[in-house]
Amino acid sequence: MKTSYHISTSKQVATNLQSVRVKVSQAAQAVNRASGSVSLIAVSKTHGCDTVRAVLDEGQRIFGESRVQEATSKWSELKGEYPDIELHLIGPLQTNKVRKAVALFNVIQTLDSLKLAESLSKEMKQQGRFPKCFVQVNTGEEAQKAGVTPWEANRFIDTCIEDFQLPVFGVMCIPPADLDPAPHFNLLREIAERHQLPAISMGMSRDYELAISCGATHVRVGTAIFGHRVV
Ligand SMILES: *Cc1c(COP(=O)(O)O)cnc(C)c1O
Repeated sequence: MKTSYHISTSKQVATNLQSVRVKVSQAAQAVNRASGSVSLIAVSKTHGCDTVRAVLDEGQRIFGESRVQEATSKWSELKGEYPDIELHLIGPLQTNKVRKAVALFNVIQTLDSLKLAESLSKEMKQQGRFPKCFVQVNTGEEAQKAGVTPWEANRFIDTCIEDFQLPVFGVMCIPPADLDPAPHFNLLREIAERHQLPAISMGMSRDYELAISCGATHVRVGTAIFGHRVV
């Protein structure tokens, strides 16, 4: 079998990061937004500490991980070395992992059920730690994808804030892979605006510049920085 990936060297990763930063800032300026209004989340899932260090050395401090278990073993150590890390959970969260997630993450982007809201609310009070929450919206209403539907989102966001006292700061979406993401980005922005939520997490390696033009405040970029994931 032909291998179509390569392991990126530290130098390549650093160069990739520089170029993504430039594109983020140009995309923001193109729609008259300050470049500081967009946070670049480096999605480090599947990548080891050595690769991650290459971007830490470039001053990157905001990271995204998909799995609680993997993130805990990778970041418990790194967070000790770099106390100013801001770690985002961007993958589905099961209630049996809520304790670990609240202890480790600064932002949980995948709040998408009442069961999870209730569990997070309890656990945050117990630990006295209050990671910011983003509500994940399944803008394409895809059966296999997590998130509340756009028509459930209004009530869900209100319930999370009013009934569960969760610190809901934003919304997040992953548009269908094979469709134009622009209508999905616009829909997510409308939901954020309706609830006056400051954070809008949308855009990945292939479409982060478009997402920024549609109002993204957080873009989640993995492949364009770290190269293709092997696993
Ligand atoms: C893996 C992942 C990303 C990063 O995707 P790339 O295409 O590698 O940039 C962004 N968001 C979520 C939710 C992910 O799971």
